[in-house]
Amino acid sequence: MTKIIKEFSDPTVTIDEVAKMSVKQLIVRGNKFSKNYRVTGKNKFRLKDYPCDEESELGEEEKPIAQLFLEQGVKILSEMQDKLYAQDRWALLVIFQAMDAAGKDGAIKHVMSGINPQGCEVTSFKSPNSEELDHDYLWRCMKHLPERGRIGIFNRSYYEEVLVVRVHEEILGSQKIPKKLVTKNIWKERLSDIRNFETYLNHNGILVVKIFLHVSKKEQKKRFLERLERPEKNWKFSKSDLAERKFWKSYMTAYEEMIKETASDKSPWYVVPADNKHYARIVVASAILHALDSMKLEYPKVSEEQVAELQRLRQELLGEE
Ligand code: ATP
Ligand code: MG
Repeated sequence: MTKIIKEFSDPTVTIDEVAKMSVKQLIVRGNKFSKNYRVTGKNKFRLKDYPCDEESELGEEEKPIAQLFLEQGVKILSEMQDKLYAQDRWALLVIFQAMDAAGKDGAIKHVMSGINPQGCEVTSFKSPNSEELDHDYLWRCMKHLPERGRIGIFNRSYYEEVLVVRVHEEILGSQKIPKKLVTKNIWKERLSDIRNFETYLNHNGILVVKIFLHVSKKEQKKRFLERLERPEKNWKFSKSDLAERKFWKSYMTAYEEMIKETASDKSPWYVVPADNKHYARIVVASAILHALDSMKLEYPKVSEEQVAELQRLRQELLGEE
């Protein structure tokens, strides 16, 4: 029995029982599950305490149960999104960060599959262009923050400013920052600015969920080889991916510090074991559900006067010639 089944349910759960679980039961189980990977900054954080893989791949008889959990989760997500949209008060920002081939695109695609595209925007952040470099680094991200009632997804984000830029410090030179401001304190300053920025978002009703897809170096090699060997996957391979892999250790140090310094109760990081894609997607769905659940979303209440007015309009429509 793999951990997923133990965490999600009692060991004897059957697929029929999962199918009959109420929304509340599923949310409670999802929360218990995702909590294992949630970092809120309260305790000491070390990346090596978090696994890339959970025990083993899912067994054959567990796969359909895990699949059903994910499907149920996605269904609830879509119901919650509907309320989020109707209520038009809160917003949710989900940030994905990871090494190459960790499965960001797949996780976004699968977890958001049931979501109404009108209420959701996905933005990918690549190396900044010249217009973007003429601004502070949050500028391009600010433009894509979710409106109230919406879910915004960042595929990479302002966190690159303390990851790739930290690993390759020479990038700082192209950022047009006044020389005097580029000191050894720059990473501490950036981490603190990001923390404050997210607190500001929280104060405005935008919750932030940050996902680090924690893939192992060994699994990345396997996925790169697949990209090189399978013609239908060749397009996914980029030469620079191999170059970045050489900086693995520096990246992990930067990730560790980033998570430690920017995880909070209101804007937690999830360090998601990503060597098993199915497993990772369930953690991601559970993490998003947890954030939406904390908003206590409801459809807007209609007042007695509004009900009376709706009745009157109904009669008018029925009485039409
Ligand atoms: P995939 O490889 O799965 O298609 P990706 O997110 O890796 O997705 P790429 O186009 O390969 O997309 O890479 C985007 C690159 O842009 C990454 O190497 C990332 O580190 C880099 N990048 C993003 N933001 C910044 C930034 N602010 N400064 C410098 N480089 C950045
Ligand atoms: Mg890439």
